[in-house]
Formats: sequence, structure tokens, C-alpha cells
Amino acid sequence: MGLLFLGTPLTWEEAKKQADHVRFHGITQFLHTWDRLKDRHGDELLWGDEVEYLVVALDDEAKDARLSLRQTEILEKLSSIVGSISSDCPDSVSVPTFHPEYGRYMLESTPGSPYTGSIPDLLSVEGNMRYRRALARKHLKSNEIPLTLTAFPRLGVQGPFTEPYYDPANAVSSHSLFLPEEITNPHARFPTLTANIRQRRGSKVAINLPIFFDTQTPRPFVDPTIPWDRSIYAEDPEAKAGAALTDHIYLDAMGFGMGCCCLQLTFQACHVGDARRMYDGLIPIGPILLALSASSPIWRGYLADVDCRWNVIAGSVDDRTEEERGLKPLENSRFRIPKSRYDSVDLYISTDWTNRPEYNDNPLPYDECIYGRLREHGIDDLLSKHISHLFIRDPLVVFSETLYQDDETSSDHFENIQSTNWQTLRFKPPPPNSSIGWRVEFRSMEVQMTDYENAAFAVFVVLLSRAILTYNTNFYIPISKVDENMGRAQQRDAAQTGKFYFRKDVHSPHPSVPSSAASSVSGSSSGSSSPVNGAPVVKDKKMRNCFPDPPLPENGIKAVPVDEEYEEMTMNEIMNGKGEGFPGLLGLVTVYLETLDITPEESIKIHNYLDFIRRRANGTLLTPATWIRNFVRSHPAYKHDSVVSAEINYDLIVAVDEIERGIRKADDLLPADYTGSKEDSGSIGL
Ligand code: ADP
Ligand code: MG
Ligand code: MG
Ligand code: MG
Ligand code: MG
Ligand code: MG
Repeated sequence: MGLLFLGTPLTWEEAKKQADHVRFHGITQFLHTWDRLKDRHGDELLWGDEVEYLVVALDDEAKDARLSLRQTEILEKLSSIVGSISSDCPDSVSVPTFHPEYGRYMLESTPGSPYTGSIPDLLSVEGNMRYRRALARKHLKSNEIPLTLTAFPRLGVQGPFTEPYYDPANAVSSHSLFLPEEITNPHARFPTLTANIRQRRGSKVAINLPIFFDTQTPRPFVDPTIPWDRSIYAEDPEAKAGAALTDHIYLDAMGFGMGCCCLQLTFQACHVGDARRMYDGLIPIGPILLALSASSPIWRGYLADVDCRWNVIAGSVDDRTEEERGLKPLENSRFRIPKSRYDSVDLYISTDWTNRPEYNDNPLPYDECIYGRLREHGIDDLLSKHISHLFIRDPLVVFSETLYQDDETSSDHFENIQSTNWQTLRFKPPPPNSSIGWRVEFRSMEVQMTDYENAAFAVFVVLLSRAILTYNTNFYIPISKVDENMGRAQQRDAAQTGKFYFRKDVHSPHPSVPSSAASSVSGSSSGSSSPVNGAPVVKDKKMRNCFPDPPLPENGIKAVPVDEEYEEMTMNEIMNGKGEGFPGLLGLVTVYLETLDITPEESIKIHNYLDFIRRRANGTLLTPATWIRNFVRSHPAYKHDSVVSAEINYDLIVAVDEIERGIRKADDLLPADYTGSKEDSGSIGL
């Protein structure tokens, strides 16, 4: 979660006076990076995942599962052994890294060094993730488990839900009615973020998720567990005054969102132009894979009518003032801002000709002064708009010790704004003083309960990103339609019953696109190994990252009106194809796979992951969200009133852990041959 400098954070009153200073020097820092690295070329495909965990403490006698607040001790233990792991670490697994996260019950792990484009690396991802989980598990207490569950079902319920228990009366940063101060990582950055968001906004954040009406849920639903009449903090009356909606689950603090776990992937590109193409190519994929990875149907002890975390996090860090949100005329604020700083991407940024201006149809407030500075420096319109749009935000956490920096060697001020714009995709410039190139981060997916699933999604997105660059696939639709898809993706059961806008013809109309991509959906095509012009096709030994620039359109290509380029499709159609013309994302990936020089064994393993994704998309396997909802609704103690009791929660957590370890079967969730991680921990000699 970015910079963890230990220092003295400024209060909001003080920090806001430094906003222009941080923005000015942030842009100066970006311009130095740009000058140094705009022409950098030839970076190889390096990539990596981030997996986040909840640490849960089980009380088997009381049948209770609570969040364990031991993050600091656990991370200390893990970092003290990381040095000694190297000798024990199986060769194929790089020494992993563990990071703090917002929640004091959370961990994040990444591979110690990025993966390359080699196929063995691609196939090492699951083992790497399982190794990391086993390592974490090994350093927990015997009653604690590392769970990759997107949201803890009983976060914020009345009564204890953490171990140890703390009273929300002491929530000095968030002023929450539900979450105690101790839910938050104690590092100064996190309480400061929490408090400064509330103060900048002028009220607590407010999120309302529609409740899932079951047969016995009271109508109207007015939540009896909200302490409506508490009077400790000035904001306490907000709930009663309209912030908490009838028929909804009301959440009032940053921890409800930033306390969620997700699965993120970062890819290095050959050069900045390819990074921009990849970024654009993955934008329409964001909502699709959010829906397909949906796994958070329970909030504050209630079943919700949504399946995903996204809008919760967006709301949980929404620091916009009333003026910025359009509730009052602009007087003290500078912009009307349509979205939270955590939300979907607003602008396609590739300079490729396929990026038609009509696709960028979202309102885009940007700082004109910063835009002008970037343009004057020679940066093109789209990238200048992208940066000056991110820079309409204020820095939220400013440390007095780091206010003055060497702008040639630091990117702290740039990253301060950049890393608190939490969007579906992040375009990551190279950090100073490193060998790292231009990268793109894919951020929409929910974390899956098993590393098999997490690896399957990672493998799929890596291959899709290669297909995008190799074939110049064209996924552009108006970005406002991508936003509509984000809303749809979170609806209950969207992967099965939802429809999404998607481009009808994804083939780029120039010669480098294999026309076979449309017809060989089944993956049985032998086209790629047949001679072309008499010469045998040489297959790639690894996934490449550098490609010739896409050619300009041939003469005579006529632009179709934008609204004829896309239509509504089901998840199954988008992923598995529709008719002759639309191969589906899996079809594209399958064709791409045929260009790789892989062994039959490797092919079987990769297809096993792709088959899992195919089955998730066609409904023969459930999303985790649907599986969790079904688990609750068929639990003997469930009263069909939307309430997820401590007992149901305990049984759910135990079930998820047992499924992960492979000692409980879940054939509606995972392939029948899923074996689980029960053998992994034995191989760690620590
Ligand atoms: P953040 O929290 O900023 O999103 P992290 O440092 O937690 O990023 O994770 C970044 C991921 O990128 C890790 O999986 C890491 O292995 C991977 N990575 C590191 N270096 C590179 C690189 N040069 N190119 C691509 N990915 C990289
Ligand atoms: Mg993280
Ligand atoms: Mg991270
Ligand atoms: Mg980080
Ligand atoms: Mg997070
Ligand atoms: Mg990340």
C-alpha cells in the first residue's frame, strides 16, 4: 500500500496548505521521469501478483471466528525469517515478501522477485502462492488461519468480532459507529488517511448496500443493530439524519472498504507506448473479471443484494466535499468531481489510431494549469489529461519530514497523489534509481478462496495481456459503458444473469491479426504450425513482450458509428465466444497459446486453468459469492432473515479453510481433481 515512511503526519488543516506544493513537485518529479525514460525501450515481460489475506482466529468451543489483530507481530516474525528462508526455499519459488495492509488483521504477499515470461514461471504461480500461504500459516497461532476471503462477513457487527475485543467508542480517526480504532494498522499513515478523508469530506463516509430480502427479512428493513442514538462524536447523528438508508446495510468507515482483500497483477511493458496499449486493452476487462471473481455477498453480518466489494471501497475513501459531489454550488472547491478517488478508470490513454476520441465520453475534470505544464513539456494530450485528472485530488497524508525532496531522485510527491488514486487499472511510471520499466496494474479482481483459483485468474490475465499486444485486439467501447458494466458486475449473480456491453468485433482491421483467431475457438486449430509462404512458423519459447508498432490502418477502412460497435453479451458469450465472429476472451487466449513452444505437459496444465475459467463463465462452477450465499441460506441455523450469525460465520470460515486445504469437497466451486494445500506446509523447513 505504498510508502510506509515513519514520520510526523500533518493534520488535515496543515496538510491542505501543502497540497499545491505536493502537486507542483509531484509533477516536476514526473517530468524528470518522463525525460529520462520516455524513450526507454526493450524491457522484458516481468510481472507479479499481490494476494491479500484476512487473519482469522477460531474459537472452536464457542463456535466463533474473529479477526485477529496481530498483524504487527506476524509481520515482524515473517520478516525476521525471510532472510533465512532463502536456503530452504524450493528453487522454483523466489523468496516471498509480506507487506502490511490497511486492516490490522490483514497481510499482503508478493513473490520475492517478479516472474519472467517463461512458461515454467507461469506454471510456478500457484506453487508460489501456496508456498506464501503456507509460510504465513506457519507463523500464526495454532487457532489462526490466513484466509483469502474478500470481506470478513461480520466486520462491524454489534458485539465482539475482533480478537482481542475493542469498543468502537474509541474510533478517534473514523468516528465510526461500528469499527474500533484498533481495526486499523497503527502505522501513522493509516489513521491519518482515515481521519483526513473524513475531515476533507466534512462528514463520515456513507455506504449503503441493498439488503438481500429473504423470506423472513422484515420489510421495510430498518437495521436494529445500528446505535442510532449514540452521542460520542459530532457525526453520530448522521445515521439518523439520513446517511443510513432503509432497506440497506449502512457502513460508515474507511475500514469497511480498505479492509477488503483483492488479487492484483502488475505487468512490465516493453516501452511506454505498449504500456498505454495494454492499459487501454485491459480497461473493458476490469468489470468483466470483477463479476467473474465476485466473492463478497455478506456485509456487517447481513446478506447483501450485491456480490462484490468495489462500491464499498469506492465509498469508503470518498473524500469529496459536498461541492465536489454536486450537492452544493462550487464556492470553495475547484471542481465538480463525478467519482471517488477509488473508482473505475476515466480515460483511455493509448495514442494508437484505434483509440477513437468518441470512446473517451466520460466527464473529465482536470487541472488546467498542470495540463498546460505537461503539454508545454511536450507530453501528448491524452497522457497530459490522464495525469492532470489524477492531480485534481489533494494529498491526504503529508509527512513534515519529507516535504522537501530532490525532485530529480525522488518520486514521493508524485506517488502521494498517484497511489491514492485507486482505479481499476494503474499506469505505473518507472521509479527513480531502479531498473524497473513502465508497468500496468490490473486491480479489479476479488481474491479467491484458493490459490488454485487465484493462479487461474493470474494465468488467464497474463495470457490475455499477451494476446492483446500480439494481435492488437481492439476492445474499445465508450468508457461510459465500461462504467455501466462496473455497476452491473456487482449485482447479485451478475456472472450468470447479467449482461455487459462488449465490443462485437475485437479483431484489429490490419494484416497482423490472424483471421484464424475468429474460427479456432475450440483450440483445435493446427493453423499456427502450418507453413506460411513455405516457411515453418517458429514458435516462441517464452511469452514475448516486445512487438513491432501496430501499423496504420489501410486505406479505405470506414469507421462504423461507435454505438454499432458494441452490444450486450452474457458472461458466457464474452468469455467463451459467440457465433463465428466473436472468439471470446478464452478463444483469443487459446489462439495465442498456439504460438508458444510449450510441451504437452505444460499445455495440459495451462488448459486446466483455462478450463476452470471457462466453467466459471458458463455457470457449471459457481462464483465464490454464489457459493457463500448458498452456504448461508442452507445452514440449519439460518432464519431466512438475511442475518449471518456468529455461528453461521464460524461454520462458513471453517468450511472455506477446509476447502482451501483440500479436506472438504466443493465440486460446485472447484474442479473435482482439486487437491488443496494440505501437503504444502510439510515442505517448509521452518
Ligand atoms: P503496489 O502495492 O504498488 O501495487 P507491490 O509492490 O505490492 O505493488 O506489488 C507489485 C508486484 O509487481 C509484485 O508482484 C512484484 O513482484 C511485481 N513486480 C516487481 N517488479 C516488477 C517489474 N519490473 N515489472 C512487473 N512487475 C514487477
Ligand atoms: Mg494491497
Ligand atoms: Mg502491494
Ligand atoms: Mg506496495
Ligand atoms: Mg487493499
Ligand atoms: Mg497493488
